[in-house]
Amino acid sequence: CEDLVKIYKVDEDLEVMALQGLDLNVEKGEMMGIIGNSGSGKSTLLNMLGGLDRPTAGKLIVDGKDLLRMSDKDLVRYKLETVGFIWQNNAKNLLPYLTALENVELPMLLKGRHKRERAKELLEMVGMGHRIHNKLHMLSGGEQQRVAIAISLANYPKLLLADEPTGSVDTKTADIILDVFRTLNQELGVTIVIVTHDMQLTKKMDRVVAIRDGRTSSEILRKPYYEDVLREAEHIEGEEES
Ligand code: ATP
Ligand code: MG
Repeated sequence: CEDLVKIYKVDEDLEVMALQGLDLNVEKGEMMGIIGNSGSGKSTLLNMLGGLDRPTAGKLIVDGKDLLRMSDKDLVRYKLETVGFIWQNNAKNLLPYLTALENVELPMLLKGRHKRERAKELLEMVGMGHRIHNKLHMLSGGEQQRVAIAISLANYPKLLLADEPTGSVDTKTADIILDVFRTLNQELGVTIVIVTHDMQLTKKMDRVVAIRDGRTSSEILRKPYYEDVLREAEHIEGEEES
C-alpha cells in the first residue's frame, strides 16, 4: 500500500477518512500483525487488501495486481481466488446441525467442486481431524473457529486476512489458533495478516505494525525488536487514555 486513502461517505455532508495515506509493505510468506486503537482503520485496511471494498486513492498492489485499477469482475475473481477471510465471529455463520466435515464441504459443493477428501485434509490441517463427524454445536468455540479457518482455506488462498480471529475465545484457545495460522504459513506458504488487540499474540508474528488514525504509526519492526513495538503500542494506548 502506498499513500492509501479510504473515505467513507456517511451522508450528504459527512465523510470519514478511515485511511489517511497509509504505507505498508507485506512480504510474501510472512505472518504480520496489525495493532491499533478502535477506529484506527484496521478493518478498513483488511477490507481493502481483500478486495471487499475499494480504496478512494493511493496505490494498492497485491501479488502484482493493481487493485485500484481492476475491473469489478476482476476484483470479484481476485477476492474468490486469492484471498481467505477470517473474522471474530466466523463460527456464527456455520451451520450448527451439520458436522464439521459437512460445514467445510458445503461451500465447496456450491462452487461445483465435490471434494470430501479436500475437506478432510483441511480439517486435519487445522487440527480438527479427530472431530470431523461431530455436529458443529457440539464443538467448543475454539474448535468452531478452527472449522471456520478450514473453510477460509477452501480456495487455496495465497493471502489470509484475519480480523480479530481470537476475539471471542480464551487465551489458551487463542494460542492454539495462532499456532494453526503458523502451521499454514510454514507448510503452505500462505501470507497472513492478522489484526489483533492481544499484545501477547503479536509475539508469535514475524512483524507487527501499529496503525494510528489511518496511518502506519510505528516503524515496521522485525522479530528481535518486539519489545519496542509493544512499548510503542502501550505508549499509544496510555496517551489515548490520558
Ligand atoms: P476496531 O478495533 O474497533 O474494530 P478498526 O481499527 O477496525 O476499529 P475501522 O472499522 O477500520 O476501525 O474504522 C475506521 C473508521 O472508519 C472509524 O472511524 C469508523 O467509524 C469508520 N467506518 C468504518 N466503516 C465505515 C462505513 N462502512 N461507513 C462509514 N464509516 C465507517
Ligand atoms: Mg475492526
